[in-house]
Amino acid sequence: MSEEMGITVKKTEFSEWYTQVVQKAGLVDTRYGIQGFLVHRPWAMRIIKRLYQLFEEELDCTGHEPTLFPLLIPEENLKKEEEHFQFAPEVFWVTEAGSDKLEKRYALRPTSETAIYPMYALWVRSYRDLPLKCYQSVSVYRYEPTTRPFLRGREFLWIEAHDVFVSHSKALEQIKQDMGICEKVIGDKLGLSFKFFKRPKWDKFKGAEDTYAADCMMPEGRVNQIASTHDLGQNFARAFGVNYKDESEREQVAWQTTFGMGIWRIMASLVAVFGDDKGLVLPPEVAPIQVVIVPIYRKGEGEEVIKKCVQLAESLKKFRVHIDKRDEKTPGFKFNEWELFGVTIRIEMGKREANEGKVTIARRDTGEKTVALEKDCETAVAKELSLIFHGLKEKSLKLSSTAEAKTMDEIMNAKTLFIKTQLCSSNMDGEECAKKLKEIGLHVRGTLLDRENPKGTCSICGKKANEVVYLARAY
Ligand SMILES: [Zn+2]
Repeated sequence: MSEEMGITVKKTEFSEWYTQVVQKAGLVDTRYGIQGFLVHRPWAMRIIKRLYQLFEEELDCTGHEPTLFPLLIPEENLKKEEEHFQFAPEVFWVTEAGSDKLEKRYALRPTSETAIYPMYALWVRSYRDLPLKCYQSVSVYRYEPTTRPFLRGREFLWIEAHDVFVSHSKALEQIKQDMGICEKVIGDKLGLSFKFFKRPKWDKFKGAEDTYAADCMMPEGRVNQIASTHDLGQNFARAFGVNYKDESEREQVAWQTTFGMGIWRIMASLVAVFGDDKGLVLPPEVAPIQVVIVPIYRKGEGEEVIKKCVQLAESLKKFRVHIDKRDEKTPGFKFNEWELFGVTIRIEMGKREANEGKVTIARRDTGEKTVALEKDCETAVAKELSLIFHGLKEKSLKLSSTAEAKTMDEIMNAKTLFIKTQLCSSNMDGEECAKKLKEIGLHVRGTLLDRENPKGTCSICGKKANEVVYLARAY
C-alpha cells in the first residue's frame, strides 16, 4: 500500500480500519458538523443507487408500488399504537417554523407506519382493494446516542415496504416473500451471507407481533442486522382503522406487514466483510466501475497505447469500463487508488501488450494476474468477475459459520461467531437464561423460521429445553 493512501491493518485494528476506509475510499465525508448526519460522496451514491435499484426491481415485480409519504408525522399519529410510541425517545421533533411556534409537534419519520397507515385507512374500502403493497426509498431519522458511518446514524437510508392483506396467512406468505427478496438481492447478487431469524419476543419491532431479521456477520465478530420484516398482525390496523368490507359486506380488520431493507447496513457489510488492507473490494454487481484500463507508456509515447485502450473499452461495452487517462499520475499510483476504491478488475495495457494483442487482467480480490488475448477479453473479464463474486461469497460464508454448544463452557469456548444452542425458552419476556448470556456479551438472535426441535436440556439452567436458538455478539 502506498504511503499517501495508507490504511491500517484490518485484522488487528478493525474499527480504525473501517473508519479510514469509508473516508479514504471516497464514500463519506464526516465533517458536516452534525453528529450522525453524513455527507454521502459520489462513489457511495453510485453504489447505493445500484442497491436501491436491485431491491426496487424485486419489489416492483412482487406487486409493490412506489410511493412517497411526508417526512413530518403529527405527534398524535405516533401515539396511536401504544407499544409503537416507545419510539418517542429516539424521535427528532419539529416545533417551530419561521418565528412561529407550531401548535403541534411533528416527528421526523423514525419509520413510516404512523405516516402511511392513516392514509391506508382512507384508501382501503373493500377486500377488492387488497392486497395493497407500497414502498418508499427514503431516509429516516433517529436520535441515536452513538453513531458510526453506515452502521448507526441519526439520518440513514433504507427502503420500507408496507403491505395490507385480508388474512394473517397472506401476511405470513408476504414475510416469506420478503425473505426471498433478501436472498435474491443480498445473497445472490451481492454475495453477502446472512441468517434470517425469528427474533425473541423482547427484541421485536415496537408494535409488531413478530419480527424476522437478517443478520450478517461482520469481521469484528458482531452481527449487523441488514434487513427485517415484521408481522404486524392487526395491531396497527386496529389503531389506525385500516378496515375492509369482505365479500358478505362485513367490516373486517386488515392484516399488515412491514419490511425494511437496510441500505446503509448493507453498505456497512459490503465495506467490512469484503474489504482488505488495500481498501474496498466491491462485488461486481454494484461496483460503479467493474473494469479500469490503465495505459502504461513512456512519456510522449502514450498516443498509440491510449488508442488501443479505447478500442479495448469498446469491446468491453457490456461492463462498466473506465480508462484512466490521467497523464500526471504514475501507473503505480493509479493501481493503488483503484484498489482502494474496490474496482473489481484492472487491465494493464502497455506498448508490448498493444503490439502483441494481449492484455494483463488483475483481480482486485486476490491480486492474481492473467494474460488474455485481446480478442478474448470480454469472455476473460466475465469469467474473472464470476470468480471474484464466488470468492467474495465464500469469504462471507466463512464468517457466518456456526458451532453447536450444549453447555455454558462450550458456549464460552466456541470457535465460531454464530453459536447454536438450546434454551428453556427464547420467547418469554425478560427471559432469565438469555440475560445470563447477555452478561457475557452474547445476544439471543432468535430461532430459525423452520423451527428446529430441541433435544435435552437448556445449556444455561439445565431445565428442559424448549427452543433451539442462535447466539452472537451484536452492536
Ligand atoms: Zn434455561
